[in-house]
Amino acid sequence: MKVTLVGAGPGGIGLLTLKGLEVLQAADVVLYDRFVSDDILAVIPESAEKINVGKSAGHHSVPQDTINNLLLEKAKQGKNVVRLKGGDPFIFARGGEELEFLAKNDIPFEVVPGITSAIAAAIYAGIPITHRDCASSLHIITVHAKNNEPLNIDFGALVKLNGTLVFLMGVAAVNTICENCIAAGMDKDMPAAIVENAATSSQRKFLGTVSNLPEIAHTNKVKSPAVIIIGKVCEFSERYDWFGKKPLRNKRIVVARIKSTKLAKSLEELGCDVIKFPCFKIVPLISSEKKLKDYSWLVFTSDIGVNIFFDYLIERGIDIRELGGIKIACVGIETEKEVKRRGIKADYVPTEYNGAALARGLIGLVKNGSKVLIARAKNGDQDLTRILADAGIAFDDVPIYEKIVDTSSTNTITLNDFDFAAFTSPSAVEGFAKLATNIDFHKIKVVCIGEKTAAAARAYGMEVYVSAEATIKSMVEKIKELSA
Ligand code: SAH
Repeated sequence: MKVTLVGAGPGGIGLLTLKGLEVLQAADVVLYDRFVSDDILAVIPESAEKINVGKSAGHHSVPQDTINNLLLEKAKQGKNVVRLKGGDPFIFARGGEELEFLAKNDIPFEVVPGITSAIAAAIYAGIPITHRDCASSLHIITVHAKNNEPLNIDFGALVKLNGTLVFLMGVAAVNTICENCIAAGMDKDMPAAIVENAATSSQRKFLGTVSNLPEIAHTNKVKSPAVIIIGKVCEFSERYDWFGKKPLRNKRIVVARIKSTKLAKSLEELGCDVIKFPCFKIVPLISSEKKLKDYSWLVFTSDIGVNIFFDYLIERGIDIRELGGIKIACVGIETEKEVKRRGIKADYVPTEYNGAALARGLIGLVKNGSKVLIARAKNGDQDLTRILADAGIAFDDVPIYEKIVDTSSTNTITLNDFDFAAFTSPSAVEGFAKLATNIDFHKIKVVCIGEKTAAAARAYGMEVYVSAEATIKSMVEKIKELSA
């Protein structure tokens, strides 16, 4: 029995601490706030109970008393309880109040610090929050008072400190903040910044002075969550803008995803705002009892297939050494990598990443009288099987999974939401087309991994660009080229 307060950091899982990750993975119950990202929630075990107690400024969706009581109730049941909060649990997050309640009730607790948005916002905006030349102190201030009581901030004292002022929960009060600073004697031209959705791919940053920041924030319709930074250090923001200068900043790309795909990750690394569109799901098909020893070659055509195949072996208690005498062929780098992760070096990978090339290569490699096992998705590429059949090679084409359109998805997307869509398979195109029915496909630009995927997209009248090679890396290159 224990309650652990965990800071989730300002955005995605990359800025969660390793300790935080460990604690989440061992949780029985997680109570989480608004602003905790999906990829962090995804690491919580499926068996754990997830309770959304998210609050938004002004209207607390779950009152603090209810949260406290939930913590107590779950802990008393002997559960490992995690209270997951955005940023750091002690910075304007009522961490102290919750600990007080737990202490009173003799519930053991621990706290895992998180990266606060106050600091992450400055870092991702290129603002060195302290600087020997111009800011030797840093002040983190909230303008959100308890129970909407009037603000009680000594602006005179703050201004005199000549440090960096960071305001949280201040979007609605940006006028008040700036006016009070000026009234307390701050230089009207003091540099200032507002950073919305800091440290995430949808970050927006606006620079100005303490005089014009309110107007800038209103004109650009800056919304919560945002951090306001006032101080001389804001002057460095353009020069040190490492995040803003990423090649795909301000690009919004739809990725028809299954889980967090490698494509989505690579694009986010380049600063892109990736819209994950969960249009299909993978359904493993428990295949008929084929005997591995009947085959001389095993063929994989996707990384998903590799995962499902090896999970199946484990589930059935099949010893991996039964693969000992079997040669393995893969299509594509991602598939090969997945095989390698299992400690196996593929025996054949065609230089061209398609089923036809694989089949042609296998013709010279498969010995007479031996048989090939193709472990792949249902309704896979027919070129592979046709070429093998024409060459008189015996094979079993075993569907080990199926991709089906996820009609439970509540995703709605409009033309204005994105610059490109990226598709890594014909089924991704089909899934997108079935779910994004409100979109005029003739008006969208799409980047496809290979000719088959491109053909599926062209059939819907989309403006299609094809990557030079059928790899994620090449797709990313294409997207960069089109965005330049
Ligand atoms: N404990 C949190 C702060 C909670 S108060 C932390 O340490 O970050 C909520 C406020 O945090 C928001 O109103 C906003 O000012 C700020 N905030 C949280 N996440 C943010 C983000 N990604 N970008 C900008 N501001 C953020």
